[in-house]
Amino acid sequence: MHCPFCGTTDTRVIDSRLTAEGDKVRRRRECPRCNARFTTYEVAELLMPPVVKRDGRREPFLEEKLRTGLLRALEKRPVGAARIEETILRIKNRARASGERELSSQQIGEWVMDELRDLDQVAYVRFASVYRSFQDVNAFRVEIERLQQGAPSDPPDPE
Ligand SMILES: [Zn+2]
Repeated sequence: MHCPFCGTTDTRVIDSRLTAEGDKVRRRRECPRCNARFTTYEVAELLMPPVVKRDGRREPFLEEKLRTGLLRALEKRPVGAARIEETILRIKNRARASGERELSSQQIGEWVMDELRDLDQVAYVRFASVYRSFQDVNAFRVEIERLQQGAPSDPPDPE
């Protein structure tokens, strides 16, 4: 770890401990050249499988993109930021637990729909209308009827 003050490439760890939450390691470091002390945090980086889009292109799993989609669906809905973050975490855990080497964007969309169905039904219908690109009022009505019956919805038609 470089010293952020003088740029020396080698700094010394003088203390190392787990944070109270137990998910980070906090290290105190000292620079042997300028004697500056600073703190670093170490977290486990859990790799997410890449995402294959409908057109076959691959892209990295972007948490920010997931968040943007959720926030758009949940705009002006009574769902707090903490619950949105929990939702993102659950979807990421599902992605990792799937054990797949890559995920389809459809799969992620289905997981988002699963979450929204429980979280907020207005947001669910908003997301579904964009995600499944409802072609007409009828498709919309069918989805709402499904929701009212509490039935799990089918995957999108491949058409
Ligand atoms: Zn230094």
